[in-house]
Amino acid sequence: MTANSPTSASLVGKSTKSPAARLASKSRFKGQLSPSQLTLFQKRPPDPPQAGVFFWALLPAPSLIPMVARMSQSKTIHVIGGGLAGSEAAWQIASSGVPVILHEMRPVRGTDAHQTDHLAELVCSNSFRSDEATTNAVGLIHREMRQMNSIIMACADANQVPAGGALAVDRDGFAQAVTQRIHEHPLITLSREEMTGLPPGDWDNVIIATGPLTSAPLAQAILERTGEDALAFFDAIAPIVHRDSIDMDKAWFQSRYDKQGPGGTGADYINCPLDKDQYYAFIDALIKGDKTSFKEWEGTPYFDGCLPIEVMAERGPETLRHGPMKPMGLTNAHNPSVKAYAVVQLRQDNALGTLYNMVGFQTKLKYGAQQDIFRTIPGLEKAEFARLGGLHRNTYLNSPRVLDERLRLKAEPRLRFAGQITGCEGYVESAAVGLMAGRMAAAERLERNFTAPPVTTAMGALLNHITGGHLEVIDGGPRSFQPMNVNFGLFPPLTEPVRAEDGKRLKGPEKSVAKKKMMTSRAMRDHADWLASL
Ligand SMILES: Cc1cc2nc3c(=O)[nH]c(=O)nc-3n(C[C@H](O)[C@H](O)[C@H](O)COP(=O)(O)OP(=O)(O)OC[C@H]3O[C@@H](n4cnc5c(N)ncnc54)[C@H](O)[C@@H]3O)c2cc1C
Repeated sequence: MTANSPTSASLVGKSTKSPAARLASKSRFKGQLSPSQLTLFQKRPPDPPQAGVFFWALLPAPSLIPMVARMSQSKTIHVIGGGLAGSEAAWQIASSGVPVILHEMRPVRGTDAHQTDHLAELVCSNSFRSDEATTNAVGLIHREMRQMNSIIMACADANQVPAGGALAVDRDGFAQAVTQRIHEHPLITLSREEMTGLPPGDWDNVIIATGPLTSAPLAQAILERTGEDALAFFDAIAPIVHRDSIDMDKAWFQSRYDKQGPGGTGADYINCPLDKDQYYAFIDALIKGDKTSFKEWEGTPYFDGCLPIEVMAERGPETLRHGPMKPMGLTNAHNPSVKAYAVVQLRQDNALGTLYNMVGFQTKLKYGAQQDIFRTIPGLEKAEFARLGGLHRNTYLNSPRVLDERLRLKAEPRLRFAGQITGCEGYVESAAVGLMAGRMAAAERLERNFTAPPVTTAMGALLNHITGGHLEVIDGGPRSFQPMNVNFGLFPPLTEPVRAEDGKRLKGPEKSVAKKKMMTSRAMRDHADWLASL
């Protein structure tokens, strides 16, 4: 059998024990589930038949659900993965009146991070981050999702715990609420099984939302279908900085040796110079800085070419100066007669030119340490980070290359992707991409047009990051597409000058807040117009 051969052999749920019994017997679930929770993943009794919708009356037993799925496949959409994205996608599809089967492998097969059988389990923090919609891009995307009947936002709101300006939730209450609502929806069938290959060929409308910890056999099948360089298993992320927070009185634009390269101008990089004292102080801080360690199951993915900078620093004080911080081929435009001892280069990261990544600066330093240490670099004293560096287990596609603007695999458009596997990052963003994918899949099934949200909205900016906003490579460097949270750097720049309401010119933090407010009011206006047009 090849990975994409159309057979139900790719659905695995072999044990003769019930899923509940298997879960209860797994040590890390022991004592965590009440009897009522355990019954949640036993298939509920069939709902009354719904005319022209589904074969509930025929529903025989959980083990036969794949067969039922094939019987109704002419209408049904399949969603694989019942996490944040898959649950939201299934909800949106069902809310459009289209039947959906949600395939979730837990508890038949677990992951190294999930602890329960609940749908939409939060694997780490219980925070959905800022809920402030006028000055924060995450708060803005919350608002857009609430306006679009998001199950994730509704259950988060219903299970909120006090957290200042952030939206934090009671994690169990939240995940149980999502599970319950999915379970109760008459058009959603929950099927507990692992997909061990690409879906059968007769599933013509599928969303794959299996997340950063996609199970190995499915990941392998996706890899075979998309190609080696289209699927990553770790993100080795260098910090990404908002261009307008870099002090260009200290930094300057120049490519090494003024090389133009393909598509370059000879001045493609932003360069930040360090003198000898600054360099050694920097190396010292890297070595002493607080670091996160790999989880046991992550292994130690130190590949050649993506060593964390602190590991390079530990190999000797000159290592970085002969690696990513080498000063060769660069002349400080502000002080041409003085040769920098070392240089930090930043490379354009998105097509809009609003974000720049610190070249070769992947790191396991803790976020606080990264901000403190990187702000000692001349030119970056006031750097605002769109995302900080990291090195994690994460399965994700090179989406700008392999997905079309509707999140479909270009090579096989019946397969649509959603959630973190598309290269967004975070609970909220994963759910938002699930929401869009669900709407797109339902529109396709109902033969309706789906116009993507404008790029000026939070959802549109995120979608654009995934499907088109990124530079593939610049100057022959590594691919630049990396998982990213929603942030204002993904939005198109404003076309009008940033001023106070009374027309006064603004500076510093006041200007930054006013700019964010202008971006969010543009987003809210455009989102409302877009919703009205659907
Ligand atoms: C360890 C870790 C910690 C994280 N911490 C945070 C955090 O604190 N805050 C934050 O905002 N983001 C965090 N993230 C990032 C990310 O946003 C979350 O992982 C988020 O849950 C992604 O949503 P998703 O729906 O794409 O994937 P998931 O929520 O992981 O859902 C994917 C689902 O697919 C199922 N699945 C996988 N393979 C198969 C298969 N072959 N067949 C059937 N089902 C399958 C899984 O069991 C899972 O339920 C973290 C990620 C990881 C890995």
